[in-house]
Amino acid sequence: MRFPVRLYPLALLLAAMAGTACATTSADPDRPGPDATPVPAPPAWLAGLERRYDRDLRVPGLETRTFSPEQWWEVAMPLLADDRGFTVEDAGRSAEGRPLRHIAWGEGGARVLLWSQMHGDESTASMALADLFRLLGEYPDHPLVERLRRRTSLHFLPVMNPDGAARFQRRNAQGIDINRDARALASPEARALKSLRDRLQPEFGFNLHDQRVGYRAGDSERGVAIALLAPPYDASGGIDPVRARAIEVAAVMRTALEPYIAGRIARWDDSFNPRAFGDLMTQWGTSTVLVESGGIEGDPQKQALRKLNFLALAAALDAIASGGHRGMPHALYADLPENGKDWPDLLVQGGILAAPGLPAARADLLVRFEQPLAGRGGRIADVGDLAGTRARRVIDASGLFIVPIGGGTGPDAGSGFDDTPGPPRIAPGEPARIHLSRDPQGRDIVWTLAEDIDPAHPYPAVADGL
Ligand SMILES: [Zn+2]
Repeated sequence: MRFPVRLYPLALLLAAMAGTACATTSADPDRPGPDATPVPAPPAWLAGLERRYDRDLRVPGLETRTFSPEQWWEVAMPLLADDRGFTVEDAGRSAEGRPLRHIAWGEGGARVLLWSQMHGDESTASMALADLFRLLGEYPDHPLVERLRRRTSLHFLPVMNPDGAARFQRRNAQGIDINRDARALASPEARALKSLRDRLQPEFGFNLHDQRVGYRAGDSERGVAIALLAPPYDASGGIDPVRARAIEVAAVMRTALEPYIAGRIARWDDSFNPRAFGDLMTQWGTSTVLVESGGIEGDPQKQALRKLNFLALAAALDAIASGGHRGMPHALYADLPENGKDWPDLLVQGGILAAPGLPAARADLLVRFEQPLAGRGGRIADVGDLAGTRARRVIDASGLFIVPIGGGTGPDAGSGFDDTPGPPRIAPGEPARIHLSRDPQGRDIVWTLAEDIDPAHPYPAVADGL
């Protein structure tokens, strides 16, 4: 079930983004006007790190984002040797008994805690943390690494929901959303994070997640690549010194990301949630930044986003080490557009539904994927007149028939038993299995969606000019 891996250079990917259906229009209300706070250039060393990343820093073995926790540790452990300055200690067990591990590195006074994959299917930052371990351990003479070693103590609780990660699902094995368990501490994973925080009393925290790929940046049509949040500590939405520091660090991260994904950086919704870790960490005195990796079209395994996570974290940690975050204008954070509409994945527009045994009907079809960037695990979300609906991808099916495919072959196939598969159905919640065909019997097929998009035929071959 492996998806063929293709690594795209970041620049190429970002250039390709401009050509997608979701390209920015010139009359974009979200484009910063002349009054917007100018975004300063990131430190010069960051571009150097970016140039070295693919060759020297990206850790091999994590090319597919659905790795198991065991695979992740198999890749990470060799990077975490004592003589590279790391200590690895037991931090408890998951609900199903998988190990949770606390990794520490650095000799400095600024304590930072980073935790990843609290939601088991949000793996982008876990990959980036492995790259960070490689930088810290293999390049002790790099000026950034020297600075970090002298001035910070970095603590990690990576892949902290291993049972969820093993199933590539959001919740832990008990069905608990760990990011709604910061107050109740009902799950062993939440307790491990809380006890680590209480023991270390970190000044800074990084809460590393992935968000839905469909989110648009503000009112624009641009997909959000990364969203940031300096979470509130109570319902007032006020800014105390703890949150102010988080805002400054988020501003540094924006600065680091701006050259690569300007206009695709957003702010996560900042209403207070008394059950969420980011909010309570802030309340407990740790200046916390939530990082939400969204999506970049053409990057199904989030390898470009992994690199951007790495670069943004490197810039943030450097600022913490050097004090460079102090005095960063809050507007660099506050000016970011919020996460806007969540566009569904695929709209098949203007086709004629040709379900066996039913009258033909002019209908649009909406599909959502379990893995939207890879186009895997498609389910039908809606059928009918969907005029006005926007989607990440639109297929013009004018003149084509939408023919369901599936287990049954029509009403005649039934043998009278209730469990016999009936004719394939097109209905919300059903797996998306269709042919686009020039004839209603599905004999002259233009394109097939069999839950997963075939990487060899990502689009209908002849959608235009029909
Ligand atoms: Zn999450």
